[in-house]
This record gives sequence, C-alpha cells and structure tokens, in this order.
Amino acid sequence: MKFTAEHEALRKTVRDFVEKEINPYCDEWEEAGEFPIHDLFRKLGALGLLGIQKPEEYGGMGLDYSYNLVAAEELGMAHCGGVPLAIGVQTDMCTPAIARFGSDELKRTFLTPAITGEMVGCIGVSEVGAGSDVAGMKTTARKDGDDYIINGSKMWITNSPKADFICLLANTSDDKPHKNKSLIVVPMSSPGISFSPHLNKLGMRSSETAQIFFDDVRVPQRNRIGAEGTGFMMQMLQFQEERMWGAANVIKALENCIDQTIAYCRERKTFGQPLIDNQVIHFRLAELQTEIEALRALTYQACELHIEGKDVTKLASMAKLKAGRLGREVTDSCLQYWGGMGYMWDNPLSRAFRDVRLVSIGGGADEIMLGIICKMMGTLPGKKRD
Ligand SMILES: Cc1cc2nc3c(=O)[nH]c(=O)nc-3n(C[C@H](O)[C@H](O)[C@H](O)COP(=O)(O)OP(=O)(O)OC[C@H]3O[C@@H](n4cnc5c(N)ncnc54)[C@H](O)[C@@H]3O)c2cc1C
Repeated sequence: MKFTAEHEALRKTVRDFVEKEINPYCDEWEEAGEFPIHDLFRKLGALGLLGIQKPEEYGGMGLDYSYNLVAAEELGMAHCGGVPLAIGVQTDMCTPAIARFGSDELKRTFLTPAITGEMVGCIGVSEVGAGSDVAGMKTTARKDGDDYIINGSKMWITNSPKADFICLLANTSDDKPHKNKSLIVVPMSSPGISFSPHLNKLGMRSSETAQIFFDDVRVPQRNRIGAEGTGFMMQMLQFQEERMWGAANVIKALENCIDQTIAYCRERKTFGQPLIDNQVIHFRLAELQTEIEALRALTYQACELHIEGKDVTKLASMAKLKAGRLGREVTDSCLQYWGGMGYMWDNPLSRAFRDVRLVSIGGGADEIMLGIICKMMGTLPGKKRD
C-alpha cells in the first residue's frame, strides 16, 4: 500500500474532524447514549467524508477503497467507538449495495442524501433468531400489486432510532434460503414501522441501537436493489466492505490504547520505579504493537485485492477475525496495567475494552469468520439444511 499526498491530506481532514467535532463531546454523548447524528453527518457530508468511494455522479468523491481505509483508520482516534461505528454503518455497511447494484432512482433518492449527510441509513440483516445464521432469517416481503408488504423484525440495528432509511434483507419468495432473499430500501417513516426502546449495551454507548418491527409495511417494488432473489449474494458482498472497515477502524484505536498505557506506566510508580521499567510490561506492549502491525499488513493486503477487483472474502474475513481477537487482547492487557484506574467506568481503557469487544461479535462473529476461512481452504465439512 503506497499512500500519496492525497491520502495524507484526507487523513489530516479526518483527524482534524475527529479532534474538533467528535472528541470534545465523546464523554457527553457516551453518557447520554446518543449523539446528534444528523448534525454530525451533515458536517461530514460537507467535507465529502460520507462518499469517499462513492460515484461522483451521485455526489461522491469517486476515490478507490484505499482512501476509505485511511478514513476508517483515522476515525479510530475518536475517544469512543460508538460514533465511528455509526459513521461506518453509513459509509460501508448500508450503502455499498445501493451504490453497486441500485437503480438510478434509488441512488438519487437514498444514496445522494446519504453522501451529503441529509439522510441517515441503517442496515437490517440480524434477527432475534438469526444473527450468525443469516440464511435462517424470517422477515418477509410479499408482493402486492407493484408493492411489497413487509412483516417481521430486525434486531440490534445500529443508527435505527434516528435513521431515515434501512437497507433491509427480507425473504421475497419460498425458494431455497440463499435464493429467496432481496435487499430493499425502506423509508423509516413508512407506516407500520415501530421500535423497541434503545438497547442497553455493554459498550458503543453513544451509538443508538434498537429492534425494529415491521407490521404490513408497504414499499414499492422499485425500492428493491438489483434483481429479486439476489439479496443474499449482495449482502455477502456488502459484508466484505463492512469487515475491512471494521478491521481498519480498530488499528489506530488499539495503537492509541498502547500509547496511553505507555504514558500512564511512565507516570505510575510501584516499588520505587515506573511501571514501564518492568520488562514484563514493556515487552508485552512491544509484542502487542507488533501484532497490530501484522493486522495492518493483513488489512492493507485485503484492501489492495479489493481495489484490484479480486475476491477478498478470505482476506477480509481474516482481517476481521484478527481485529476482533487482537482487540480483546490489547484492551485486556492494557487495562491490566492501569490497575484499579482501568476498572473505572470512565477510564479510556475501560471504554475501549467495552467498545472493542463488539468486533468479535458484530458483522459476523469470530467463529463465522473461521467458518468462511475454512470454506475457502476447503476444510469445512458439507452441511445439510432442512
Ligand atoms: C452493538 C451491536 C450492533 C449491531 N448492529 C447491527 C446492525 O446494524 N445491523 C445488523 O443487521 N446486525 C447488527 N448487529 C447484530 C450482529 O451482527 C449479530 O449480533 C452477530 O452477527 C451475531 O449474531 P447473534 O447475536 O444472533 O449470535 P448467535 O448467532 O446466536 O451466535 C452466538 C455466538 O455463538 C457462536 N457461534 C455462532 N455460530 C457458530 C458456529 N457455527 N460455530 C461455532 N460458534 C458459533 C459465536 O461465538 C456467536 O457469537 C449488532 C450487534 C450488536 C451487539
């Protein structure tokens, strides 16, 4: 990966944004369990940061994925994970399929406002009974004239309480589970949509998460992305960008944990010497920093393949797996060196420990990543579904 002056300029823009528009408010937003998402997204939109990789024709910058990667990495410098997560949902989770497969009308109605920040989007895949097992989801969209009538529910949906649209995966036929699904863009103002109260989460406190219920929700069939029955395939592709974004986003967040821990351990003395002078501590931090460099290399490699248009399923899954595993290791080890201070709710390491824990669960749990990697290695035993 060779970064140019343009990459560095973008990096600076994102860094400045994080320092000026996000970090001063993180504590307040974490406490409130929400942040002014429309205001913040409009500011991001004005800088072009919600459409880095999206087509210029629809208001994007038309840049390649390496620029997205730089932005995701730099958002990791935020003092909380919740706000970057909300941004990542908008840029890399609920809009890639619209940009790649959506009609011109869908792009003008939903993609352009998502790029300018006028609209907030969310992605609806998981259900109470179907998180890892996406194929087993039950939400249906049945044809009625030129419309679909949607019934069912989606669980743990980030951004949903304030979203203007959802990119929804629904069953549109009784065909086999991989051939009966479609992605449909549903305006959240549609009659028949309701929400659970905000879900009370371990981490990512500033991001809003809820369950959504669909009760005879009517949307035109032209809101479907691409051909009917191709939703599962499109969502699997959309997951690749979600997973690369997730991996890129933790790199700097974890480095920041190490940097803050070094600073604390220089300051804090036990038995007459700074904590950092204990070999067990400085060696451990060096080992973790080395692991982060390995994660960076893997993530960049996945990104390069993606830019070349190659299948990135294996490397994106590996990067996501490694990010989740390493995130747990780094935050756990660093928190330990802060002692009792690390166990305090408002401590930065405590927050990172809680926030980063999501990476091993959301967007496909570690075990799902392992299953994909095994499938690509040809070691996964065949499975029958009844
Ligand atoms: C904060 C948060 C935000 C989220 N945001 C969104 C969102 O915006 N949109 C959305 O659609 N979803 C979202 N999700 C849902 C998330 O993607 C799912 O929670 C995740 O895919 C796991 O599904 P599950 O919770 O149903 O776990 P389950 O499928 O019940 O699995 C439980 C655990 O079992 C293990 N496991 C599962 N299958 C296997 C297997 N085959 N072999 C071995 N072990 C296995 C894994 O460790 C897994 O964590 C969010 C979740 C959270 C917590």
